[in-house]
Amino acid sequence: MIKMGVGATALTILGGIPLQASNKQDRSKILVFGAHPDDPETGAGGTICLLSEAGHDVTVVYLTRGQASSRFTDRNVAATTRTREAEEACKVMGVRHIFMDQMDGSTEVNETRRAEVRALIEKEKPDVVLTHWPVDGHRDHASCGILVTDAWRRLDYCFELYYYEVMSGVQSQLFHPTDWVDISSVRQRKYKACYCHASQGLEEVMRDYHTPMENFRGLECRSEAAEAFAHNTVPGSILKGY
Ligand SMILES: [Zn+2]
Repeated sequence: MIKMGVGATALTILGGIPLQASNKQDRSKILVFGAHPDDPETGAGGTICLLSEAGHDVTVVYLTRGQASSRFTDRNVAATTRTREAEEACKVMGVRHIFMDQMDGSTEVNETRRAEVRALIEKEKPDVVLTHWPVDGHRDHASCGILVTDAWRRLDYCFELYYYEVMSGVQSQLFHPTDWVDISSVRQRKYKACYCHASQGLEEVMRDYHTPMENFRGLECRSEAAEAFAHNTVPGSILKGY
């Protein structure tokens, strides 16, 4: 975990995951949920690359295939194109991927959808899950954060839960990090993965939003560029029936 003001080279990231998983017991299983193809890449792509390079088992889970993208007139074409782009991005980051097939722009948070996310997490048995910060101007991002948080509670907090930010100020709102990951060494690889989403004009999105965010988070932890996370360590209690 890299904390603000720590100048030394970090040996661990995100709450004690070893930066080098040289043997099997050091190998962590990590799921990174995103509402759309390109969200995990832009919000946490550097961290994903670092975890993958370190030998951890990382899987990206896309809630939708980005069917409603305004850059397409046909939803089937959008889904096919964006699926292929996401597959290419995951190849660049060296990770597996799963599509959950909710509908872009109309993601649902109901008992069926909660059960789907819970079942996937029970099957994958992750040590750590990254997902959207749920206070977000995009309803699909908010849905994704809420569904994963619900699974964390219902599965008795059996994994470490971290939230990432996307286009802070415009999409993620009121985000206050607890953890910072220095992504300076993998920044180019992150951008290569982001630019696989050629249909989405990410050059502009990175220039106007994510590059300034990475620079600012880097200032906070004395590095050239960083991604920031909020670690949920406040489980609270579940009222019976809710
Ligand atoms: Zn998105």
